[in-house]
Order: sequence, then structure tokens, then C-alpha cells
Amino acid sequence: MKRSIASVAGPRGSSRGTSAGEPVSWSRRHLLGLVGVSAGELRAVLGRARELAAAGGGESLKGRTVATLFFEDSTRTRTSFTLAGRRLGAEVVDLSAGASSVNKGETLIDTARTIRAMGVDALVVRTRQSGGAAAVAAALDASGRRCSVLNAGDGRHEHPTQGLLDLYTLAEAHGRLDRFDLSGLRVAIVGDVWSSRVARSAIAGVTALGGAVVVVGPAGMAPGSLSCLGCTVSRDLDAELGSADAVMMLRIQFERHEGAAAGEMDTRAAGGVSVREFRELYGLTAERASRMKAGAVVMHPGPINRGVELDGEVADGPRSVVLRQVSVGVPVRMAVLEGCVLAG
Ligand code: ASP
Repeated sequence: MKRSIASVAGPRGSSRGTSAGEPVSWSRRHLLGLVGVSAGELRAVLGRARELAAAGGGESLKGRTVATLFFEDSTRTRTSFTLAGRRLGAEVVDLSAGASSVNKGETLIDTARTIRAMGVDALVVRTRQSGGAAAVAAALDASGRRCSVLNAGDGRHEHPTQGLLDLYTLAEAHGRLDRFDLSGLRVAIVGDVWSSRVARSAIAGVTALGGAVVVVGPAGMAPGSLSCLGCTVSRDLDAELGSADAVMMLRIQFERHEGAAAGEMDTRAAGGVSVREFRELYGLTAERASRMKAGAVVMHPGPINRGVELDGEVADGPRSVVLRQVSVGVPVRMAVLEGCVLAG
């Protein structure tokens, strides 16, 4: 069965942020990133997630098989995809990278082809390399196999389902679930933006839906060149706090900084600053959170380094929607799995 999910945006071009001629339904076989995904497509998949959240699940993937193939650690993303597949009736196979033949020298693409040859309908892939999921999708398409590829994070490039769940959470927190129109909202993404696939997907998604993004951090973590993604760049968190409707804090990704100095947490350096300096200038402390705009929310993709980028008190406080991000991840991934597999 081939079908596509229609957008909640209404007729073509009728909603803010949707340009004439852009697709207003989801008909992609793969989800590799949010860059280039139209407002109409985003609204279609988010609207379907809203329906699935209300229904709690369904049977649309009954008889289908989903495989998760992770070459980097993950707790919440893999579990979330597994639950999402099962709640739509699919059989879900989790293949840990350690247990697969990649350790015996098989390439990523050969591994993906082997899994596909077993009759898998969707592969959820996380790779250390940027472009890993796209390479797997291209290889499967070239082999004539109909198999959806969902990017669960590729290096520093994108983490599109995290981006979608961030959009859903933002829309919910600001009463925009009806049309997923984020116009007038300003999102500050703070910290190690350069290393962050979460940030790249969020910038693409928020701006496509009409919102504005400012990335905030030291030059080594938030270089001015990031403005080419459609955001503005600031060095001054204190100056941004009063105008942001959401503050998204990011973990310092030491594993992605070449030559990041090892050592004690308080002296360890990445992106040109020590952890102590980072916390001083960019940590979301309880005091800083108290200066946020009324109604503004605190987000974090996890895992949180409590006491570094985010105080525990703030992570667990009234502005925090961190656990809501985790919860809505399941219906969002249901919508994406369903949309891609049924389009394929
Ligand atoms: N979980 C997110 C990711 O996979 C963020 C992080 O690891 O800091 O990119």
C-alpha cells in the first residue's frame, strides 16, 4: 500500500511558512535530514504524530519489520524507535553494532544490504560519520531494494527525528499544536552548536515553520559561519535570555572535538574554553533561568551534564520540558516510520 500523510496546513500554500509549490504531504521514503523538508511536509508528519499521540498507537505497520542499527551509543533514541515501531504493530529487531559484523571488517553499507536482504522494511541508522545514513539509503536505492532509511544521528550533521520532536514540544509549549506555526517565537540554542547534529536539525525545522533561532556560545563552539544555516549568532547568553521563548541547552561533545584536552572536568577544554569558563559564561544556572521570559521553556536533547551546561534544579524545574521531549519522541517516530514505510 502506498499512501502519503496529508498536511494539517490545509490547501497548498494556505498556511504561514508554506510557499506556493512546496509539498504539503509526506511522501518521502527516507528521512535523512530536515534541511530541505518543506513546512507542509513538516506539518503533515507532526499532525500525524498528534493523532497518534491521542490514539496511543495503531496497526499500520502490522506485518512490517523495522531494524535499528546503531554504531554509536544511544539510550533514548533507539528505545524510542523500538517502542514506536511496536506500537504500530511492526516487528522490531535491535542490532547492536558490537554484535554485527562491522567489527569483523564488513562495511556499513554491506551490513545494511545484508539486513535488507532479510526483508526489512525500514532501517534506523546511527553512524559516527556525517552522511552515513544518506550513503546507506543511496546504496539500498541503487540495489533496487525498497527499504526506508531513517537517520537516527549521523556525526555532526543531522538528527532529524530529534528535530521533529523538538518542533512538536515547542509547538505544544506555546499553544501551536493546531497548525504547527512557530512564527513570532525565538529559540536560543546554547553551547556546543558546532558539534551538534541536534542543533542543525532544529535550526532547519524551526526556521521552516516560521520561528527564529539564535545560536549562543564561544567562537569555538558557535562560529559566526553558522549564520549560513539561517540563524543569528551571539556570544552573550545573558543578553539573549530575556527575549527567548525557548532555551535549548546542548552538551559539550568532547568526543567530537579533535584534541580536546582530557583531564578533570573543571580544567578540561573544548572549543577553546575550559569547562569552568563555559559554565561561567553559558551554563543555564537557576539564577539565569530566573531571568527568562514568562512562559519560556528549557529544552535539552539529553544526556544532560548536570552542573555543567544545565543546573539540576533547572532541568527538574517548572520551565523544563526535557521529559516531555522524551515522551513526544515516541508518537513523532511512529509518524515518521509510518510515513516513510507506507510511502516506500
Ligand atoms: N543525544 C543527542 C545526540 O545523539 C545529543 C547528545 O548526544 O549530546 O546527538
